[in-house]
Amino acid sequence: MALLRHTTGEIKERSALTVNPAKTCQPVGAMYAALGVHGCFPHSHGSQGCCAYHRSALTRHYKEPVVAGTSSFTEGSSVFGGQSNLISAIDNIFTLYDPETIAIHTTCLSETIGDDLRQISQKAIDDGKVPAGKHIVYANTPSYIGTHVTGYANMVKGIVKGFTKKSGTPNGKVNIIPGFCEPSDMAEFRRIAGQMGVEILMAPDTNGVLNGPLDGHYQMYPKGGATVEEITSMGDSVGTLGLGRWATTDAVNYLDSEFKVPGKVLGLPIGLKATDRFVNELRLMSGTDVPESINFERGQVVDIISDYSQYFYGKKVTMAGDPDQLLALVEFVITLGMIPAYTVTGTSGKYFDERMKELLKDVPYDCKFKSGGEADMYLLHQWIKNDPVDLLIGNTYLKYIARDEDTPLVRHGFPILDRVGHQYFPTVGYAGAMRLMEKFLGAIMDREDRDAPETKFELQM
Ligand code: SF4
Repeated sequence: MALLRHTTGEIKERSALTVNPAKTCQPVGAMYAALGVHGCFPHSHGSQGCCAYHRSALTRHYKEPVVAGTSSFTEGSSVFGGQSNLISAIDNIFTLYDPETIAIHTTCLSETIGDDLRQISQKAIDDGKVPAGKHIVYANTPSYIGTHVTGYANMVKGIVKGFTKKSGTPNGKVNIIPGFCEPSDMAEFRRIAGQMGVEILMAPDTNGVLNGPLDGHYQMYPKGGATVEEITSMGDSVGTLGLGRWATTDAVNYLDSEFKVPGKVLGLPIGLKATDRFVNELRLMSGTDVPESINFERGQVVDIISDYSQYFYGKKVTMAGDPDQLLALVEFVITLGMIPAYTVTGTSGKYFDERMKELLKDVPYDCKFKSGGEADMYLLHQWIKNDPVDLLIGNTYLKYIARDEDTPLVRHGFPILDRVGHQYFPTVGYAGAMRLMEKFLGAIMDREDRDAPETKFELQM
């Protein structure tokens, strides 16, 4: 916090240096995706420190105990390879914790020494360490490239690759591969599909795993999560919708090329237009109509926009987070008449820059954005030092900048360590759009109330 006080508005070109990154590491995303499979035990193939960090990042965000194993590398395994550690770990995990599946991901260390997960997993099977009816899936997640979003995408592909088959008998269902979003968002995808009468297979699905009830009984494997049978059946579906370009494209393409299940990748359906696209694609893919109940919710979103547009209009917003979430949020705040003045994501991708240019082309402001390693919260802070904004949107780490600059903050994305709600209330779909508008308006109007002179302090805005 004290260090942030020394941030100046003097921006210098820099490379190979990230200060306060707008990202976290690959295995965090891989572990999160693994928890979206029912009865799955995530396993970190690396040293204990990495695993402790990944577990704690998820536990602190969800306030649920996240359990995972580690190959517990020592100096010996770091030099000679971690094969024997991993095979012992697989044996111990199945013996002691009896999961249906172990989902293994690598870390920087095991990647650097070149451990081959495919070969080690096969050896574990050949050595009889994987009991009948149990499974291993795996993904490479070197964190010196990519971010938690890449790690999520890699594990989602690993899960699909490990389980999905084509039986030849069509199941008439639509596959949904959610991007990196909350359990509440995944529940909302299911609710929307249910309203439309569309049968879906969704994986991963962390609803019921990381937002379950407290009932006095600890369950190592809660009721939620996509079952192995469901993921297996994805090869017989009529199509796949991926919701998030960074997080789902690989899995969608795999289902398409391997099983001829046609896929379409959309953005995360955050906001009015993105939700319209999601509902429309679901309608087209399933051959159903949009029911009145969905039109009703959409109408409520439009009503709020119309009633409160004067409070949104012209407000400058700064955002940091994941690219799939940011592109949708930027489009949504533009729909509301706000100005997405400054945006950074630590996850790189050419598409981010292209899509941002497209979204911003009619915004009458010199908006700035950046993606990749140097697109960090330090740069974001410098930008707003030179040009203050009305609202910040991003994870808990932005609270330091919010306090330093005395700017309201709406928490969104990962991680959120100091507020509740993200696990239980969606920000996707029309219901999510309403929740986001409520949060934006709450922050903007609370600030206006705080700063209003006596003569302008009104009961009604
Ligand atoms: S060493 Fe790599 S995998 Fe481990 S915590 Fe650090 S960035 Fe993540």
